Amino acid sequence: MSNVIVVVGAGVSGLTSALLLSRSKRNTITVLAKHMPGDYHIEYASPWAGANVLPMADDENSRYERRTWPELKRLAEQAPEAGIHFQRSRVFRRQKDLVNPAGLKDALFDMGPWYQSLLPDFRELGPDELLPGHESGCEFTSVCINTATYLQWLLGQCLKAGVVVKRAVLSDIAEAKVMSHTGSAASIVVNATGLGSLKLGGVRDTTMTPARGQTVLVRNECGPMLTTSGTDDGDLETLYMMQRAGGGGTIIGGTFDLGNWDSDPDPNVAMRIMKRAVEACPDLTGGKGTDALSIVRHGVGLRPYRRDGVRLEADKTSDGTWIVHNYGHAGWGYQASYGCAERVVELVNQIRKDNGEDVVSEPK
Ligand code: FAD
Repeated sequence: MSNVIVVVGAGVSGLTSALLLSRSKRNTITVLAKHMPGDYHIEYASPWAGANVLPMADDENSRYERRTWPELKRLAEQAPEAGIHFQRSRVFRRQKDLVNPAGLKDALFDMGPWYQSLLPDFRELGPDELLPGHESGCEFTSVCINTATYLQWLLGQCLKAGVVVKRAVLSDIAEAKVMSHTGSAASIVVNATGLGSLKLGGVRDTTMTPARGQTVLVRNECGPMLTTSGTDDGDLETLYMMQRAGGGGTIIGGTFDLGNWDSDPDPNVAMRIMKRAVEACPDLTGGKGTDALSIVRHGVGLRPYRRDGVRLEADKTSDGTWIVHNYGHAGWGYQASYGCAERVVELVNQIRKDNGEDVVSEPK
């Protein structure tokens, strides 16, 4: 007997969920989405991400990030076509940001962080290695994901595994039940609609809000990735840069602006992003300042922020359909993607077990 599953959403969360679900040959999977890899749209967060791995959760909630790293590392080592490569990453801390109640509270900036035993070659930086104005910093090996390449690769892996992918715009999650390519009703629907979950009927999660991120993609190359705990341009502005694999250019950022839906890049913010980047890393333009930045595009993405953190749970509707939710990853959707998708598989298997199915001896 086959399990008919419909995944709604083709961002990193939906595609990774579909890929891991497809590893059980009893699952027959359809992915439905308004936006697909290759699209650039304000309702689609995934293409706009940097993206890199900079752990954010605290130790207690680090499961999804811990479970994702080994797979991203494996891809960086063994699958160059996925568009993921290793990069050294430098993180700089200022005491004033760490005690600022409105500042970033990510575990990334902790002294002696939990992830020092996960990410390779972790070390604290010496005083002569710090950016001016910063009291401490650390360095480790991480990865940078070329999102344009990686989303296409993920889609390709899904297609290779027999997943059927279709465009569709849903006004209610209940519509997904009858939209499997098999023609049979789905027993399980995976909701991976990101910020779409705010307005999607049957979900309407009003704890969702955008965390707007503005970036500039340039052709110039930087050395190690760089991130700071704050900037002197206000609490909404951040500083990071990373060089994408396979000619993807360098992403410089950024902002983290909760509740702001504006899809247009703000030219003043863009100027400040570029100024901070060349000040922190003059080598980006060979010491020639912002005028020597070769801009590919200005970008704005809306991180799908959820007040109470990610929603990863199963919910039964009145007609007996199970909805497995996987949305609300804010600024860490890639770096937790495999851990979260693995949880989706666990939830799906639990539902099937409760229905009396044998999920242990099934064909892989
Ligand atoms: P999305 O990518 O938004 O996908 C949602 C999908 O659902 C789309 O296919 C959409 O079309 C579909 N959908 C929604 N509503 C409907 C509907 N009604 N009907 C049909 N389809 C629907 N993460 C990291 O891990 N590392 C980083 O370095 C990083 N940097 C970032 C930098 C920026 C500037 C931004 C904006 C984000 C960054 N992120 C980063 C966060 C990451 O991009 C997100 O967490 C992730 O992309 C969320 O993916 P998703 O699949 O849940 O949502």
